[in-house]
Amino acid sequence: MTGKYQLVCLECGRTLTDSYTNRCPEGHESLLRTVYTKRLRKLTGRGIFNYIDWLPVEEALPLNSCPITYKSEDFGRELGLDNLYISFSGYLPERGAFMKTCTFKELEALPACQRAKEKCGKILVVPSAGNTARAFAEVASMTGMPVVLIVPKGYLYRIWTTTENHDSILLISVDGDYSDAIAAGKEIAKLDGLIEEGGVRNVARRDGLGVVELEAAFSMHVLPDYYFQAVGSGTGAIAAWEAFSRLIGDGRFGNKMPVMVISQNLPFAPMFSAWQARRAEIIPDRDMRDAEDAIKEMYADVLSTRNPAYSIKGGVYDMLSSTGGEIYGITNEECQSAEKLFESEEGVDLDPAAAVTVASLIRAVDEGFVGRKDKILVNITGGGYKRLMEDCNICRIEDRVVLRHSSALDEIEPELKEFLYELRSCYT
Ligand SMILES: *Cc1c(COP(=O)(O)O)cnc(C)c1O
Ligand SMILES: [Zn+2]
Repeated sequence: MTGKYQLVCLECGRTLTDSYTNRCPEGHESLLRTVYTKRLRKLTGRGIFNYIDWLPVEEALPLNSCPITYKSEDFGRELGLDNLYISFSGYLPERGAFMKTCTFKELEALPACQRAKEKCGKILVVPSAGNTARAFAEVASMTGMPVVLIVPKGYLYRIWTTTENHDSILLISVDGDYSDAIAAGKEIAKLDGLIEEGGVRNVARRDGLGVVELEAAFSMHVLPDYYFQAVGSGTGAIAAWEAFSRLIGDGRFGNKMPVMVISQNLPFAPMFSAWQARRAEIIPDRDMRDAEDAIKEMYADVLSTRNPAYSIKGGVYDMLSSTGGEIYGITNEECQSAEKLFESEEGVDLDPAAAVTVASLIRAVDEGFVGRKDKILVNITGGGYKRLMEDCNICRIEDRVVLRHSSALDEIEPELKEFLYELRSCYT
């Protein structure tokens, strides 16, 4: 194998050289996965790029955000757990966490932008329910790398950066929900010079998220027995599972695969519903009934993905089956009380999705699914907004186009041309 890494198709085993390749050329539905040649080093002073050996990029971006891992004393004691480890992706300066977009989506945006620059030179089109768009916006604003963001109108309030420069961001709002934004993104990415970012299929996103587990492994010196995380698309959990299996291959952190415990927010919980029946397929009529209304009722609506990576080879169903995993369905009330308890014990506010995770941990303790001595890694995927608002300027981004239906491409083209024209005059 030449080069730093190759991609392998999980269906046919074919290896591919990366040219921003997100699908097997044979047309297989399964995920592609990166195979790295190097043994992992932990570098210093480069944020997530401390782990560049296992990221699908050649060069690091000069930004230093990184998730942290620490052993929880207070919350662990409260739950009666001796070995509770918290991974935190957000803003918590006292513990050295400085992720200003306040969620682990930042871990995806950093290598995804760099991979696009290195492997295809096109502008990424990113549909998002909010947290992803904010992460890409911050990276675009800090680096000048251009990005096109497509966000449902109702979630525009989530799109801000901590710097004022928005020249490299084209924000398009959609009159509709997250699925409408995805549909619009597919169309817009067909325009010249643009490319679909790729979501769960983008190895840069998954390997960027995997830094949570790499950081945890170096901090804990061993893999956990259990891993907890709330899921929407499933990308983060699949990424964790892949990172754990790479770490097992490395050999320095033990050889036992953690049990993957994931959670969704009721009433919209398609993977939870399908897994209850031990079905590998999501059946919309059974698992996503009255989706629109159900999504409106959710406490953590960033988890409202309608087409999660569940059945796909290498996806969530395979992950749960092969690790003896479990999914919890969590009510809004459980989220709120979990959030209160966590904030009072650990001193930081949570993203609603992370409250789902914490509630699932509480449930697993109550049910005896995990025991006092077990080593548990809980991925707090977002938090620290309160403190960030005190410390930083929040600059809202204006949408430059409002899209009324996804086929209205002619509304986009003139704005896009102008955006590209302004970019050229800014950066050349
Ligand atoms: C997106 C998100 C999740 C869910 O991640 P998926 O990879 O979509 O499953 C969990 N927590 C937070 C804070 C998020 O923004
Ligand atoms: Zn293939």
